[in-house]
Amino acid sequence: MISDSGKRRRFAYAISISREFWLDINCNVCGRQWREILHRTKNDKSPVIIANKLISDFMFYYVMLISEKAKNTFEEEGITGYELEKAVVKSADNLTEEEEIYCKEEGYKLKNFIVNPPDYYKIFVPNIGAEPHEKLGLKLVGKCDSYGYEDYMFNEQFTNTITPVIIKKESINFDYDIFRVRGAGLGMYCTEKVKIIYEKHKLTGLNFEEVELL
Ligand SMILES: [Zn+2]
Repeated sequence: MISDSGKRRRFAYAISISREFWLDINCNVCGRQWREILHRTKNDKSPVIIANKLISDFMFYYVMLISEKAKNTFEEEGITGYELEKAVVKSADNLTEEEEIYCKEEGYKLKNFIVNPPDYYKIFVPNIGAEPHEKLGLKLVGKCDSYGYEDYMFNEQFTNTITPVIIKKESINFDYDIFRVRGAGLGMYCTEKVKIIYEKHKLTGLNFEEVELL
C-alpha cells in the first residue's frame, strides 16, 4: 500500500504543528540512540492541520491517516490486521497562540489550511504477516528486544526498508488482511481483498503495487 498524492490535483496533506514531535530514546540495553516520531506511537495527542481542500480517504503523514468513510468501509467489510486511533486534527481557525507562532515561523499560510476538517484516524499495523524470500538476500545483523528494533543488511547496505519485496509464499499468515513484512520497516502490505474493497467503494489516496510471491 503506497500513498497516492493525487494526479491532476494534489490531495490534501497533514502537517504537524507541535514544536517537539519526537522523543529521544537512549536504550540502556544496547546503548543505541534514536529519535522516535511521536505521531507514530500510540496515545500520541500531538495535533496536525490539513492543507489543501481536496480531501482523500488515505493521507500519508508520519503514519497513515484514514477517513471516517474508509474506517466504516473497513469495518463493514471485515478487514483485519489494523488498529485505529482518532487523530488530533485541528481547525485552522482554532489554533493556540503557540501553534500560530510556530506556523508563522515555519512559513505556513493559515489560509491554505482547512477550517472544520473532517475526522481522521491513525492506522496502526502491528502484525508481521509474512517473511521476505531468501532470494532477497536480506540478513539480520543486529537487534534489540527492549524496543524491538532489527537492523538488516540488503545488497551489502544497512536498511530498514525493502521495496520491492519478494514474499515467501508459505510464510503468509492469512489471519491478516493488512500486515507488515519482516525487514520492511513500517511498510503496509495487504491482501487483494483490500484492493478490491478500496476500488469498489471508490476510496482515494492509495496506490497498490503487486508483490512477488515465491
Ligand atoms: Zn536497545
